Amino acid sequence: MSTRNYLWRRVLSLLLLIIITVNAPVGASSAVASESEDSVFETETLKIVNHFDYFTDSISPLSEKAMSKSEITKALAPYGKYLGTPGMPVYAYRDAMEQKWEDVTERDKKFTGVEIDLEKRYTYNSLVSIMKKLSRIDGVNLYKIGKSTQDRDMYAIEIDLPSDEEKDTIILTGTIHARETAGCTYILKELVDLLQDNSAKARKTLSRTRFVAVPCVNPDGREGVCYNPETYSYKKGELWKATTSGTDLNRNFPGLSWAQLKKGYEKSDYLSTSPDKLYYPGPFAGSAPETRAMMKFLYHYVVIEKAVMYIDYHQQGRIMYTEKPWCGSEQRKLSKDAANHFKEFLNKGQKKSSKNKYTAVKEDKDYGLNGVGSTMTDYACSIANGSKYSRAYGFNVYCTKTAEYPLIMIPRLDDTRKNLIEAPNPSLITFTFEIGWGKDSLGYSSKARALIADEYKTFHYDKVLFEMSDYAYGLRK
Ligand SMILES: [Zn+2]
Repeated sequence: MSTRNYLWRRVLSLLLLIIITVNAPVGASSAVASESEDSVFETETLKIVNHFDYFTDSISPLSEKAMSKSEITKALAPYGKYLGTPGMPVYAYRDAMEQKWEDVTERDKKFTGVEIDLEKRYTYNSLVSIMKKLSRIDGVNLYKIGKSTQDRDMYAIEIDLPSDEEKDTIILTGTIHARETAGCTYILKELVDLLQDNSAKARKTLSRTRFVAVPCVNPDGREGVCYNPETYSYKKGELWKATTSGTDLNRNFPGLSWAQLKKGYEKSDYLSTSPDKLYYPGPFAGSAPETRAMMKFLYHYVVIEKAVMYIDYHQQGRIMYTEKPWCGSEQRKLSKDAANHFKEFLNKGQKKSSKNKYTAVKEDKDYGLNGVGSTMTDYACSIANGSKYSRAYGFNVYCTKTAEYPLIMIPRLDDTRKNLIEAPNPSLITFTFEIGWGKDSLGYSSKARALIADEYKTFHYDKVLFEMSDYAYGLRK
């Protein structure tokens, strides 16, 4: 949304408030307000999400106005280069953190069963209708968390079946990249099958673990690639990763590493300077509405709910990226151990000699201070480590009680941690699944769907939620 549109919306909502207040009979307004508040059912999540002040909680109080490009360049010069892609303006940041979620859980309808067949074709709308049906199960909540660039609704599903146990929260996200369609259908199939599994193992998993998911982070891109692949491909048959307007959402987050190139590092090849099929971080950090929806979603579950694990499903090369070099050592070790554990789990039954098994790979400087924007998992780690949005820089920075420090000034977090404000979730585990092998499995052709369906069974994705739940439970001791 542009500044002007945003301001207009604020003006209109203020006018509406004045009209309502003026028309209410004297003395009646507060009674009416509390009555209508009482009558609206809110889940425990919505009580926080729609009333807590995420904006104030997540920004640094130390700076008040944005620095110019040349001021930031000057401030960062002793450490390296600022590449100049603008950070996130404060109006856009506020827009992200103040958006309301809408409860669309179908509580009063009867659940009659649903299924996901990985070889079948599903439009985004049909996947949404499966989520809606799933939300008829007691303890499954469905929220609209924002809009896509082309005005599609974005959804988060929360599986929180009644239980006496303290639960571990596990976050799953998928298909931030348009052509990587498997993430979305895998997450939904895993949840659909778990919820309809009556085994003792499934009940135990659901009683110990709260799964929260945004199965499809890039619905426009997915629909473009699935149903209009000629438009959303380049070279010969290579499909897009970006949104339909050419922003790579997985570079668009205003995380700690935004647009900084450390001295001695190579500028990444994975960086495009104008709207493109891949690697364009957007005109400014957080420019895409999808990014803004995910920022609030992640802030809620990572910082407020202190999720144990966050797994982002991508699709290429059977790799698990983990261990961000700029996180604290506790977080790096936990993430590395988890990625290695899940690598072994997925590879179970594969011959030792077999090529093309899953490997766990340390995220090197390609995902750090090499000038690119921040990924979604970068952002999650940024906020888990206590970084705050800076009005001065327009991206997240570390703060002491008196000063703000962009990441480029703090390459070794452990050394400086004691002076920084506290990390709210320093033990958050993050890694990615890069599902599948070879370009044929990308997109949504019948061949791609057959390969992806085969991958699901061969590499035990049908059991992966049990394993995640057990793994998180094991960490409690
Ligand atoms: Zn990807």
